[in-house]
Amino acid sequence: MRALILGIGDAFTSRGFGTSAVVEGPGGYFLLDCPDLIHRAIREACESSGWKVDHDKIDDILITHLHGDHVNGLESFGWARFVSRLRGINRTMPRVHTHPAAAERLWERLAPAMDPPLTRGGRKSVLSDFFDVRTFEPGKSIEIVGLRVECRYTIHPVPTIGLKISDGRKTLGWSGDTCFEQAHIEWLSDADIIVHEANLGPAHTQIELLNALPASIRKKMRITHVIDGFDKSTTDIRVLEEGEVLEF
Ligand SMILES: [Zn+2]
Repeated sequence: MRALILGIGDAFTSRGFGTSAVVEGPGGYFLLDCPDLIHRAIREACESSGWKVDHDKIDDILITHLHGDHVNGLESFGWARFVSRLRGINRTMPRVHTHPAAAERLWERLAPAMDPPLTRGGRKSVLSDFFDVRTFEPGKSIEIVGLRVECRYTIHPVPTIGLKISDGRKTLGWSGDTCFEQAHIEWLSDADIIVHEANLGPAHTQIELLNALPASIRKKMRITHVIDGFDKSTTDIRVLEEGEVLEF
């Protein structure tokens, strides 16, 4: 298992991309969240890492929540795959894996741009014309590209999940957007690498709270979802970089 970091930014970044990654397992790739300019985010991370990932080979997308900096790329990804299907490049309907509350309202976000008929005089388009949506919940793990994925609800203004992704040997922990919550840290603590968000305000985790965690946790923690120009000298926890590859 390995993960290519596409973005470490927040919703307001003017320098990079929203927090997201491509994760590779034995069965292929999945996107972990899908921010704006997703095709550019993938290309730039590939160029800086030397790891070539063709977006047309990504058939699975895992969505943590419906804030725009995590899902705004779904519209262009869905249309790009629609064109790929027409051209016979990849006929697979991309699968979106998320929790029930996000699945229920996903089409509300996408429909204004995606619900016209795909053929003249045809019926209105529906979510399943673009994505095969599958839900999972805490306590119910799923398998994506040969990796086992489990989730836990976080504390955030909209329903959000954190993730543990395992190849049976190593585990990647992913906080998802969240306020600091000790129970969430404990849930993530058996992961080999914990990617945790840090940002300002009541909906996110302040870096000072992560700085106070035991050294054994801080050592395997990586910071993401930071403001532009985040001052790395305020923490001894490593801040991820766009284009960085996490190897397991
Ligand atoms: Zn959020």
